Amino acid sequence: MNAEIIAVGTELLTGQVVNSNATYISEKLAALGIDVYFHTSVGDNATRLTQAIKNAEARSDLLILTGGLGPTDDDMTKQVLAKHLGKSLVVDEAAMQKLNHFFENSTYNRTANNDLQALILEGATALSNKTGLAVGSFIAINDKQYAILPGPPSEMKPMMSEQLLPLLSGKTRLYSRVLRFFGIGESQLVTLLDDFIKNQTDPTIAPYAKTGEVTLRLSTKAENHEIAMQKLNQLEQKILNVGRLKDFMYGYGEENSIAAVALQLLKKNQYTITAAESLTAGLFQATLASMAGASSIFPGGFVTYSKASKAKLLNISLKDLNDHGVVSEWTAIAMAEGAQKQLNTDYAISFTGVAGPDTLEGQPVGVVWLALARKGKSTISKCVRISRDRNYIRQMAVMHGFNLLIQEIKDKNN
Ligand code: ATP
Ligand code: MG
Repeated sequence: MNAEIIAVGTELLTGQVVNSNATYISEKLAALGIDVYFHTSVGDNATRLTQAIKNAEARSDLLILTGGLGPTDDDMTKQVLAKHLGKSLVVDEAAMQKLNHFFENSTYNRTANNDLQALILEGATALSNKTGLAVGSFIAINDKQYAILPGPPSEMKPMMSEQLLPLLSGKTRLYSRVLRFFGIGESQLVTLLDDFIKNQTDPTIAPYAKTGEVTLRLSTKAENHEIAMQKLNQLEQKILNVGRLKDFMYGYGEENSIAAVALQLLKKNQYTITAAESLTAGLFQATLASMAGASSIFPGGFVTYSKASKAKLLNISLKDLNDHGVVSEWTAIAMAEGAQKQLNTDYAISFTGVAGPDTLEGQPVGVVWLALARKGKSTISKCVRISRDRNYIRQMAVMHGFNLLIQEIKDKNN
């Protein structure tokens, strides 16, 4: 189902009032999984309002009109809609009683047009107004649905959320799942999933590029959690079977991160870790320590920026460092193993590379060697090429480090 919001009022067109009702209504509809395709604003004019209703009927399933329910001459929304639909206006008894009660206790003079506020479209469900006098209506005719809400936000909001939404929600609601990928670019991911994305109806797939990673939000409208999970599981499996996407997915959730997933895995398995960092100069350790609970798996580590500090703090011979070069697989392995021995942790990770802007030892900017020393097992190493500026290279190097760790612990557990 898709919806269109028609805000009625000349004050919206002259710029005196911001159409905040459309924002509120859209937000509420989105939460129900109803797509809003159009926001229309139209003045207090019967001909143009009728035209706006016709336009909306031609392209939308649900029309929500807001404004123009009051007693004055420029308030004509329900009269116009009634005429357009060939319906009469009838008294809603509850609204009339409220009106009677109001005027019995008020110094205001009641005029004939006040009664307009208690009228609804013949056959419509009345939407009671908790904070005002004008009653709203909801009616379904053929395959279209129409709702009329008052203009003042203080009246529209409670009517929208307490009266109209339960009528619209029926039994379905929106369920979402976010899949997180590292090591694959957005364009590559979208190209691989081209068929799925083009033909999506339900569930839908929305890709988002973040720093160094990509997420996919899968959304479905379903009657309950179980049905939704079935649909999302099925789509997730299909997606992960495309190319080698399985290898790039590291976790779930909007608020998650590659560092948080790595920390969870370390904590769950009670594995300790240390690090020896050259170009990242402590960024990996700082990222780890920025998350609560890091102290249980991270005793501390090493920032070894210069050749001399690598030799001294990690017990590596200066001659070997000179022979192999600082940015090399050999040095990455020596750093990781040196750190692991010093603190006797389950894992030690190292980073050495060229953050730029200048090349180093003849190696281009963006070359990074990582190594992961593992207690009782051989050390693994990896070379990555990262482009862009210095701090992006450092940040991405750290993300590659967390990813290496995730792959290692996952494989070990499988
Ligand atoms: P009333 O009985 O107060 O006349 P009404 O249902 O006839 O209510 P309008 O006359 O259209 O509503 O608008 C009354 C006031 O409500 C406007 O002056 C404006 O302040 C506010 N309002 C109307 N429409 C909107 C809108 N789309 N967004 C935000 N505020 C609105
Ligand atoms: Mg009015």
